[in-house]
Amino acid sequence: MFRIIIAEFKHETNTFSSQRTDFAAYRRSLYAVGDDLGSILTGTATEVGGMLDVLQDEPDVSLIPVVAANAIPAGPVAADVFADVRGRLVGAIRAHAPLDGILLCLHGAMVTENSEDGEGDLLEAVRQAAGDDTWVMATLDLHANITRKMSRFANVLINYDYYPHADMVDRGREIAQLMLQTLRGEIHPVMVCKSVPIILPPLSTNEAVLRPFVDQMHAYEATPGVLTVSIAHGFLCADIHELGMTVVAVTDQDPEHATRIADELAARLWQDRHRLKPENMSVDEALDEAEKSAEGPVILADLTDNPGGGSPGDGTHILRAMIRRKVKNAAVALICDPESVASCVQAGVGQTVKLRLGGHVYPDLLGQPIECDAYVRLVSDGRYRNRGPMSGGVVVDLQKSAVVLIGGIEVIVTAQVTQPYDVEIFYAHGIDPVQKHLLLLKSTNHFKAAFGPIARRVLNVSVPGLLAQDPRSVDYQNCRRPIYPLDEM
Ligand SMILES: [Zn+2]
Repeated sequence: MFRIIIAEFKHETNTFSSQRTDFAAYRRSLYAVGDDLGSILTGTATEVGGMLDVLQDEPDVSLIPVVAANAIPAGPVAADVFADVRGRLVGAIRAHAPLDGILLCLHGAMVTENSEDGEGDLLEAVRQAAGDDTWVMATLDLHANITRKMSRFANVLINYDYYPHADMVDRGREIAQLMLQTLRGEIHPVMVCKSVPIILPPLSTNEAVLRPFVDQMHAYEATPGVLTVSIAHGFLCADIHELGMTVVAVTDQDPEHATRIADELAARLWQDRHRLKPENMSVDEALDEAEKSAEGPVILADLTDNPGGGSPGDGTHILRAMIRRKVKNAAVALICDPESVASCVQAGVGQTVKLRLGGHVYPDLLGQPIECDAYVRLVSDGRYRNRGPMSGGVVVDLQKSAVVLIGGIEVIVTAQVTQPYDVEIFYAHGIDPVQKHLLLLKSTNHFKAAFGPIARRVLNVSVPGLLAQDPRSVDYQNCRRPIYPLDEM
């Protein structure tokens, strides 16, 4: 019987955010212990969902679920949260020793109050507790900043292949299969991680410049002896020394082969570094383009206030311009503003309320509150279940929410923030996104998985915000130098 621990501990930390990620933040998103992990995540389109899918019914596997903790990206993770999860993991490793395998679902860009290398510290503690004979394998987000410590203490790391991250469940299945084959003695994975000194702006893997890299990864994986190949894009809003891209190559007992693959991909990335930037518009350019488009929905992506990257989701620059230009048949997901939600709830459906909408957390950066009269169309408990493909089946809890009408614009106002990457956020609020001419989404790329098929056009809008689109505009203090594009290399 193979004894395998399974656990999740995720956070994408934006070190430029002053919003600390504490226990309450984890409890709002996901904090489950022991068997609750299985009951919450089985059947979901997540890494743990994929791992459970592969391992749950294997006759030679005894699964030990320990903890699953995930919080919305924001500022550094509180020290007591990190100590709690690490303590549960280390405690379980000791209690169930000897273990055969440890499967972890991590992000790779976690910064804590005490350390800029959350996952490195966690993997070190896991390795120390488990010893060298236990296989430690972890999935990572595509936006991981892979540190030397992480690659040293894990046997296998696998990043998502895609941005939008539509392959969470597949990567969970992949790593669980690798673990099974390894424990059964069919393969012996060796990993090489090669760091590439590039800070990559948020760029979809569907872009012409990045798609060939995904194809190349898959071509390697189709050759004998290659187990898994992935590229971590890094997370540009985590100002840590080891910020940057990393190529990960895992082969069956062949470190030279893994090194060769990592070197080849790293060299190609370096060659293409000048092309690795997104094409963005100002808000007025985008609204001009949207007006020209006869058919909708046209999607404006609010790149710099994306809650998925640690921004509060209450930025007002784009909505203000939409109101000024009297845009019609438009819907906005979302403005996070608990006070405005409370005002709507208090006033009731069918009433008009005076709001100071959004712009509360970083007014100087993300725009001042919008003073307006808003008609309350709907109030809701704010709960809905994602349709997918990303995180399908997962329940989102906005605590409470309201839909207000400002001119011809329906705005979803929420008490809790989320990245609106699933169409259900509109349907759950009585809005059919397909019938709208214009949709404003606070999301950089993830929305494309679900909204791509219904969108007539997608326009990337860059306004001042917490999620930089150009690394050269960021005031880095800790990031290693030289690094492209901060230094011309
Ligand atoms: Zn990501």
